[in-house]
This record gives sequence, C-alpha cells and structure tokens, in this order.
Amino acid sequence: MSELNIFLGPPGAGKGTQALKIATEFGLAHISTGDMLREHVSSGTELGNIAKSLLDEGKLVPDELVIKMLLERLNIEDCKNGAILDGFPRTLPQAKSLESLDKEFPVARVFVFEVNEDELVKRILLRGEMTGRSDDTKDSIKVRFEVYKQDTQPLVDFYNEKNLVNVIDAVGEVEDIYNSISRYFKL
Ligand code: AMP
Repeated sequence: MSELNIFLGPPGAGKGTQALKIATEFGLAHISTGDMLREHVSSGTELGNIAKSLLDEGKLVPDELVIKMLLERLNIEDCKNGAILDGFPRTLPQAKSLESLDKEFPVARVFVFEVNEDELVKRILLRGEMTGRSDDTKDSIKVRFEVYKQDTQPLVDFYNEKNLVNVIDAVGEVEDIYNSISRYFKL
C-alpha cells in the first residue's frame, strides 16, 4: 500500500517548493503534473503538442490525458513508499479517478494551501521574471485563478467530507510553512 498526499491550492501558493522538501525528507515520490506536462512540451511529444497552448493560456489539459499520465507515473518503482501529488487532482473527475485506486494508493492526507490573491499575483510575476515560465503572465494568471475557483476549489469540500483536509497558512517563511506540514508526516 502506497499512501498519496495531495497538495491543493491556487497557482503560486508554494506547493511545488514544499512538495519537493517533504518528498526529499520523507523518501516519497514528488509527482508534479505541471512539471511532467512541461517536459512533454519541451520534448515535443504528442501529449506535449496538445498541451502547449492550453498551458500557455492557463487552461486545464483534458482529464483523460492527465489521468492516464498520472496512472502511468504511479506504476513507477519510486512510488512504492508513497507520493506527494503536486497539482493533481484539479477536477472532480480527476479526484474520482483516484478513488478507484483506493486499495493500492489510498489518499492519506490533503493539504490545502491558503494565500491571499495579492500575494499570489506578486509571487507568480516574480517567478515568471526569474524562470521565464511561459504561463506566468498577467493574462494567464487571471485564467488560472478562474479555473482554480471553478474546477479545483470544489475538491476542498470533496475531501473535507472524507475528513482528510489540513489547511495550511502558506504565507510567511518557507521553513515555517514546511514545519506546519511536516508535523503531519511525523504523527
Ligand atoms: P502547475 O505547474 O501545477 O501550475 O501546472 C501548470 C499547467 O499545467 C496548468 O495551468 C495546466 O495547464 C496544466 N496542468 C497541470 N496539472 C494539471 C492537471 N492535474 N489537470 C489539468 N491540467 C494540468
């Protein structure tokens, strides 16, 4: 049995930074569907060609494609000790796809990252300047916030009903936020 830990939150909330730290410290696989899709785009695979314009515009890649990519990733050896899902699920059908894996890959914890919108915009624009990430632009940010509210935020209720949610105040020092998450892995 390999437990899944879901990091849920709007773009710019710091999920990737924290997921990397937690995965390294606790020997878990770090699965970022955004990173995986960006790799497909840069290597020009069929999936990458479909995903490119959607990523740039801030829209979601179709569920069936992302679900297939994720399921294949979970079969890789490094997931046997468990994994952090960073950016998946983002829609109700994606969340439901995990329910069917419950015996092998149960969802153990869900962390909901909370950051106010002004701070998010500041962080994303700064990241865009530093990394050149093509969707970290003003136009795309607006779409990504809308998509988050409409498609992803309902997952908080979905997982609340299962009593799996831990809310994380994700404003402040990286180390303090890390400590507020890591304590759940030491229980
Ligand atoms: P992220 O790096 O998690 O912010 O994701 C960047 C972009 O990749 C998103 O804006 C979507 O276009 C796409 N993406 C990442 N994860 C998913 C997902 N679970 N479902 C659909 N699209 C995704």
